[in-house]
Amino acid sequence: MNDVGLSERARSLVRPEVADLDPYDPGFVECRVNLSANESTWPRPEALERAVHDALVATPLNRYPDPMANGLRDAIAAWHGVGRSQVVVGNGGDELIFDLLLAFGGPGRTVLDMPPTFSVYDIYGRLVGSTVVAVPRDPETFEPVWDEVLAAARTADVAVLTTPNNPTGNTVALGRVEALCEACPGVVLVDEAYGEFAPSMESAASLLDRHPNLCVLHTLSKAFGMAGARVGYILASPELVDVFAAVRQPYTVNVLSQAAATAVVEGRDLALASVADVVAERDRLTEGLLALGLRVWDSEANFVLVRVPGAHVVRERLACDFSILVRDLSSTPGLEDCLRVTVGTPEEDDAVLDALRQILRPVISGT
Ligand SMILES: *Cc1c(COP(=O)(O)O)cnc(C)c1O
Repeated sequence: MNDVGLSERARSLVRPEVADLDPYDPGFVECRVNLSANESTWPRPEALERAVHDALVATPLNRYPDPMANGLRDAIAAWHGVGRSQVVVGNGGDELIFDLLLAFGGPGRTVLDMPPTFSVYDIYGRLVGSTVVAVPRDPETFEPVWDEVLAAARTADVAVLTTPNNPTGNTVALGRVEALCEACPGVVLVDEAYGEFAPSMESAASLLDRHPNLCVLHTLSKAFGMAGARVGYILASPELVDVFAAVRQPYTVNVLSQAAATAVVEGRDLALASVADVVAERDRLTEGLLALGLRVWDSEANFVLVRVPGAHVVRERLACDFSILVRDLSSTPGLEDCLRVTVGTPEEDDAVLDALRQILRPVISGT
């Protein structure tokens, strides 16, 4: 992880909101097994791979993209049973989070955050000048503390709720989401980036008709194995989609990504076929970590959160000695000694379990 911030000179040149930011560096290095970013590492069905390939080959590069990606919007709208006017596509979900905070946050406005969660909300929220009000989750279960959340929501311009939450993997009941939409006079972002891995969780999209302040974020980066193409989308009321259409950069989703994403959305049944396998493998990985005597939280996403004594050193040894990359969260408040491990293929997960067994053996035996 990069601890070095901006230079003194750079700090003197930038806006105050930018001065304390660190250049983003999630510690990416080439390695044998990369389970650090919740990407899919499973092979995609050949028929889908071919459809993506054909779509890319048929795409000319001389023209600008369709600004609103209407072909892709239509495919997403048909899938979710909504109208085109309720869909906006972005260059990854991250860009839509930024656009949302740019439009609805900002100086003099408050963003309600529920850490530990995806750090992007806090970073972008402050970057655009908002006051971020953090209501920490329960330290054991990571359930949001609802009475405090609903109280804070009453004065929030934006409230962000992640379900399943990253990096803790737990979901919240739909009734809680609805209560948040009712309590918050501003915009409620429900981030369901991992929703496909939680088949028993009902999507907040079912609340869209009743709550015009709701935005539901999905991405093709996780369950659909498209992280490199950078495509995410929001389902919301037409009036909120218009706000995104006003603030977003028009050509942000390039022609290749639009073509590939459309092929994947149209072939979604093939793409989603492996989700049940990932879920089964998540349970196996969880069991394996529990068998090492570690604290593991139940996850409904494609990763697990695990508490490992000396997590920072363990992460270094995994990377240096075994060429295995996982995410070190041990410096995040509430996640002391925690690592997040993406569910990989059975071979990748066995590599992690074997490596941890070797690294931890002296610790476990107390020598
Ligand atoms: C990965 C992720 C996203 C979006 O990722 P993109 O690749 O930018 O689409 C959004 N929210 C959470 C919580 C995530 O983990």
